Amino acid sequence: MTESLLEQIKKLRAEIERHDLLYYQLANPSISDYEYDRLVKELQELEARLDEAQKQDSPSEKVGSDLRPGAQTIPHLERMYSLDNTYSAEELQSWCEKLAAELGAFPQLAVELKIDGFSINLYYEHGDLQYASTRGDGLQGEVVTPNIRALNLVPERISHLHPIEIRGEIYIPVQDFLTLNETRAANEEKTFANPRNAAAGSIKLKDRAEVKKRHLKAIFYALGRASNLPVNRQSELVKWLENLGFPVSPSSEICLSYDAVQKFCDHWETERHSLPFEIDGVVIKVDELELQRRLGHTAKSPKWAVAYKFKPEEKETRLLDVQFQVGRTGAVTPVAILEPVYISGSTVSRATLHNEGEIRRLDIHLGDSVRLIKSGEIIPKILETLPQKRPADAAEVEFPKNCPVCQSHLERDLDGAISYCPNASCPAQLQKRLEHFASRNAMDIQGLGESLVARLLEHGYVSTLPDIYSLDYEKLAQLDRFGAKSAENLKAAIEASKERNFDRVLFALGIRHVGSVTALRLAEHFQNVDALAGADMEALAQVQDVGEIVASSLAAWFANPANRELIEALRAVGLSFGQLSQRVSTTLEGKTFLITGSLASASRTEMEDRIRAHGGRVVSGVSAKLNYLVVGEKPGSKLAKAQKTPGVQIISEEQLWELMES
Ligand code: AMP
Ligand code: ZN
Repeated sequence: MTESLLEQIKKLRAEIERHDLLYYQLANPSISDYEYDRLVKELQELEARLDEAQKQDSPSEKVGSDLRPGAQTIPHLERMYSLDNTYSAEELQSWCEKLAAELGAFPQLAVELKIDGFSINLYYEHGDLQYASTRGDGLQGEVVTPNIRALNLVPERISHLHPIEIRGEIYIPVQDFLTLNETRAANEEKTFANPRNAAAGSIKLKDRAEVKKRHLKAIFYALGRASNLPVNRQSELVKWLENLGFPVSPSSEICLSYDAVQKFCDHWETERHSLPFEIDGVVIKVDELELQRRLGHTAKSPKWAVAYKFKPEEKETRLLDVQFQVGRTGAVTPVAILEPVYISGSTVSRATLHNEGEIRRLDIHLGDSVRLIKSGEIIPKILETLPQKRPADAAEVEFPKNCPVCQSHLERDLDGAISYCPNASCPAQLQKRLEHFASRNAMDIQGLGESLVARLLEHGYVSTLPDIYSLDYEKLAQLDRFGAKSAENLKAAIEASKERNFDRVLFALGIRHVGSVTALRLAEHFQNVDALAGADMEALAQVQDVGEIVASSLAAWFANPANRELIEALRAVGLSFGQLSQRVSTTLEGKTFLITGSLASASRTEMEDRIRAHGGRVVSGVSAKLNYLVVGEKPGSKLAKAQKTPGVQIISEEQLWELMES
């Protein structure tokens, strides 16, 4: 019995530690806050049966850490705590009652919005800002002073001259978050799950110009170490901070009864989306600072405050249709078209269904009633269909056999999850294909970006890749906001692109699973396109790091007569299918890497190629010899193992890019 309790606790602790890492360090959570808090609560309930010593070092007793390996840190003068959570009116009421019983009377409470951002600590001495840091592990934080300064969010000088730590939350307004994600999606960059993650990811960026573009804002509401304060209450403290020049929350209230507290909570639970920023609950604090001091802290959180967290919103709606969209590499993605429904701050009328597997999992029929949530409160997701409400004649949704745009017969990835259109000239793919063709690592045609490509397509000036090389520049010069000079520059850039080496041309073709490094290896191995096109699976597999998936993708591509014609046409305009180049960097020299989970910016194979091209070595398992474990979406068991292995640094995909480019 006791053994099984300990076993259970051990498992739960490991699970929570894994989520802590995903959330705080990698800014890439795999479950909602609600689910996470439930796990912690479950653990606390089990641990209640243990004695104190056995609880030490449990994640239920620690603040989740955002510290990254190698980052510059600074100790907090006073610890930064987390908050205890309640999820129901009953829990909140019992918290208030316990507190009142302990104090002998119902205390005056300050209730505030719980801003869903990223905690920040500022330190001022002689009135001057000395540094800014993150919460880190509660004891020390990462230094982010230059970014905080660049953002111009806080005063450089304040009139309080005694040493003081001032604390609050950095966030991205919802609208700016949506714009940021749109831009990222358009650039085929990974989107953020929610504003909190976007803020967390942004405040630690190295690129200051990029930080400025993120429109971060802040709200301050607390102190760490401080002395000679002119205020005695939390509510006065917020006003004082505002007078000192800090941004503060637009809403807070003094409550003298539990009913008043619940009223404030209920109000903001329904009105939360009228605010320009995300809140995930309400924070209830004992107003009197002296009383706060007397109540003190547990290992993880203050005893004088509690958070009332909102439940994730869930709505029911109807599935009207399923559309199939074709992306750049031809991947076909099903999208659910929904009867518009307002949920968690916006009207949702579409939700991605990812792939055929998801359609089957949900057993989707047209006209189905579906339950919808926003995962991480942002991205609409269909939880389940409700078969009991299904109309009698509802048709099952069939994944198409042919491309919805060009009618080519769809093919499947080797792992079977994704269907794609194999026709390189498919109009649906053309915009993205042209952009990719002209991009920096491919043909590097300056000026030929998203908007110009769109205009060329719109005017019918190009309908295939080779058309780029026979543009009528006189006609182009007549285009609105374009002019002779731009036309001339474009012509020069396009002419220059004819000099690109074979590996770049190969990469520019946009063959599935052939990234720039794989293209280089293939070019070096086969020397020219004819040898490559003639290679069978076996010959292809001879190439370093070319496995079954890449080989079958190449074989399928070259087997398509339309693609052979494309190559002939590009050869005819003067592109090179036999000239070679070298590419090396040594930024990862001497380091070993392993990837777990799926990555957003490249396939795993392609990323491994890149690691090797930068001098790194990819190993096959977690051991003490491993330097870096790169964690993507849905990591596997390697993560848990790496956490237990001394010396292994766990990094995100973005941190890997930083290492390669450093
Ligand atoms: P959590 O980390 O989700 O348990 O919540 C605790 C965090 O909520 C604190 O570390 C703060 O960063 C954040 N927070 C947001 N708004 C407030 C507020 N008004 N008062 C106190 N903490 C807040
Ligand atoms: Zn097609």
